[in-house]
Amino acid sequence: MKKKFVPILLFMAVLFTLFTGVGQAATTPVVPKLYLNDQLLKPYDDPQIVNDFTLVPIRVVSENMGYEVNWAAATKTVTIHNDQNVIVLTIDNNIALVNNTKVQMDMSAKLQKGRTTMIPIRFVSEQLGLTVKWDQASQSVYLYKAADPEEPSTTPDPGQTGSITSIQYDSSFGIIINYDGKVTANKPFKLDSPKRIVIDFPNATYSDNLSSQFMGAETRIPVADNPYISMFRYSVFSTNPATARLVLDLNTDKDADAVVQDNGAGVITIGLTDPVTTPPVDTTTPPVTTDPGTKVYNVVIDAGHGGTDPGAQSINGRWEKEVNLAISLKVKALLDKEKNIKPLLSRPEDKFVTLADRVTFAKNNKADIFISIHANSNPTSSVSGTETYYTRDNSKALANVIHKHLVKATGLKDRGVKYGNLHVTRETTMPAILLETGFLSNKGDSDILYSDAAQNKMASEIVAGIKEYLKLS
Ligand SMILES: [Zn+2]
Repeated sequence: MKKKFVPILLFMAVLFTLFTGVGQAATTPVVPKLYLNDQLLKPYDDPQIVNDFTLVPIRVVSENMGYEVNWAAATKTVTIHNDQNVIVLTIDNNIALVNNTKVQMDMSAKLQKGRTTMIPIRFVSEQLGLTVKWDQASQSVYLYKAADPEEPSTTPDPGQTGSITSIQYDSSFGIIINYDGKVTANKPFKLDSPKRIVIDFPNATYSDNLSSQFMGAETRIPVADNPYISMFRYSVFSTNPATARLVLDLNTDKDADAVVQDNGAGVITIGLTDPVTTPPVDTTTPPVTTDPGTKVYNVVIDAGHGGTDPGAQSINGRWEKEVNLAISLKVKALLDKEKNIKPLLSRPEDKFVTLADRVTFAKNNKADIFISIHANSNPTSSVSGTETYYTRDNSKALANVIHKHLVKATGLKDRGVKYGNLHVTRETTMPAILLETGFLSNKGDSDILYSDAAQNKMASEIVAGIKEYLKLS
C-alpha cells in the first residue's frame, strides 16, 4: 500500500481563514502586489513580506499560475509540479527538494495561522522557469511565464482509456511500456535545454503500483548503457484530460529519434535511433539461394545481455543472461557439426558486450544470418509465450521459419512474429531476428526455460530452423 497525497486539503483551510479576519499583525504590514504577465493577481489571502522575502498563499500557484499542487498533511509537505520540475517544500524547513535534489532556500514555506500555506514566491517561480522581478517602489512582484511549449502534440481521443502498469528500460528494446486497456502514444516531439524527447499518452493513467500515479510525482530512471539517452522519466502531465507523459533525456552531443511501436498485447516499445533524415535505404540482401555443397554460411548467435547487464530476473530469482547463454552454447555445439555452417558467438561467456559491438561483430564476420536469443518478462506473471522479432523486411522470412520451430520446442503459447525496432535487428544488414523464448516472470515458462532438456530441444529446433532457412535440410 502506497502513501497517497491528499489533494488540496488546504483549500478548505483557506476557506476557514475567510472567517477569521485579517488583523494578524500589530504593525501594519505592507501587502505586496503580485503580477503575472503584467496582470494583477488577487489572491484570497494577502501575500506578505517576511525578512525581505515575499510569501504568497500556495493557492496562487495552483489557481493563478496554473500549476498542480498537492498537499500531504502527514509530512507537512507541498508538492508543486510542472512538466519539467517537481518542487517539494516542507513547512519551516529551508531545504527544498527540486527534482529529488536538495536545494537550500533563504526562506522556508510557512503555515500562517496554522492554516494557510505560504510559499516563497521567488524561489518557487524561478524553479518553475518563470522570470521574477521585484519593484521596490510599488512593492510589487512581477512574474513572467513563457507560453508552455509542451502541449500534448495531438488531441486525445476521449473514447480510449487505459492504464500504464510498468515502464522499464531494456538495453535491447529501449523503453518497454506495459499497459491495461487502451493506451496509444502520441507522436514524439523534441525540446531543447535540456535536449529531450517527449511522448504523451492521451487518456492514460498509471496503475496503483507506480509512484507516478499522482500529479506532482515524477519517476526518474537513469540509464547508463544507452548511446542516446541518459535518463527517462514519467509523470502525470494532465489530469483533465488524463495524460501520461514520458520524457527521454538525450545524451549531450548526441541527437536521436524515438520510434514508437505498439507490439500488441498491452506492450509499447520505444526504440532510439540516429536521427532519421531521409527514408531509410533498403539494404535488403538477396534472398538466400541454394548453394550446392561448398558454401559455408556464417551464423551469428547472439546471447542477449551478459556480465553487468543481467537482463530480466526470473520469478525464482535467476537472470535472463544465464538462460540466453545456455541456449546459445547449445545451438553453437549443434551447428559445429554442420559442415555448411560456421557458428559465431557474439557473447561466448558471461561478460558485458555492447549492442553496437554485437552488430560490428556480425558485420566484421560477414554474417549471413544473425539470431539473438533472449527471454521475456512482464509485470503480470500470468503472461506467457514465445515470440520472435524482426525489424527489416529482409529478416521476415528468417523470423517466420525460426519462430515456427521455436514454438514447437518450447510448447508455449504462440505470441507470433512481430515487428520490433530493436538495435541489433535494425543496425545489422543481414537477416537478423531476436527470439523471446518465454517469460521468466511466469512460473511455467521459467521452469521450461531453465530446464536442460527444454534448452536442448530449443537449440535443436533453432538449428533445424536455420537449416531449413538456408535450404540445408
Ligand atoms: Zn533480453
